[in-house]
Amino acid sequence: MTLQANLQHLIQEIPSGVRLVAVSKTQSLETIRALYDAGQRIFGENKVQELITKYPRLPDDIEWHFIGHIQRNKVKFIVPVTSLIHSIDSFRLLKEVNREAGKISRKVNCLLQFHIAAEESKFGLSWEEAVDLLSSDEFPEMNHVNICGVMGMATFTDNQALVRKEFRHLRTIFQQLKERFFNDSPDFTERSMGMTNDYNIAIEEGSTLIRIGTMLFGPRLVNVHLP
Ligand SMILES: *Cc1c(COP(=O)(O)O)cnc(C)c1O
Repeated sequence: MTLQANLQHLIQEIPSGVRLVAVSKTQSLETIRALYDAGQRIFGENKVQELITKYPRLPDDIEWHFIGHIQRNKVKFIVPVTSLIHSIDSFRLLKEVNREAGKISRKVNCLLQFHIAAEESKFGLSWEEAVDLLSSDEFPEMNHVNICGVMGMATFTDNQALVRKEFRHLRTIFQQLKERFFNDSPDFTERSMGMTNDYNIAIEEGSTLIRIGTMLFGPRLVNVHLP
């Protein structure tokens, strides 16, 4: 199938209220441009260097989402460029985003990434860490970040029941945070969950943002060739 056909197919499947993040990591400018021409506007990258190389070469009205782990010394590069950071996985990182956004008078939309998978390797906050962050004295003073919801990655497995349980857990975390900390925040609405292998389950469990790479673009290339 062509890129356009993949996009149409996916868009027909997803209910209104769920937005598609096209995960364009390792994809060339031409490929991204082709998907843009087919109507896609939200793209997700997971490497700072790759994002900052790509974004000046592609149309201005792309919404760039950052979905990967971020080292604090690289925050300054993505803050001017991203419309949503999905991957806030520590208080220190959030503070750094706030600091860098303050320098350029921006308010950056962020999601808190939670560790919901059984695997050790996935980044993310625990419930306790999130509560500590949100109930700290510093958090209300952080005027340059806007917390819009949560993100999580399920275990990479064929066990659908496990994946469903993990997404349901993220949904519960979202609801509990909303009641406890964001009752008056109309922006706290997003649940970023679901990738190529598990987006159907994620949607059933209340995803609002699915992050899809392989299903749109096919298997990823190892080397990306950028000018
Ligand atoms: C690569 C990546 C995706 C997309 O994965 P696919 O399986 O190719 O759809 C989604 N989320 C994150 C955080 C990723 O790094």
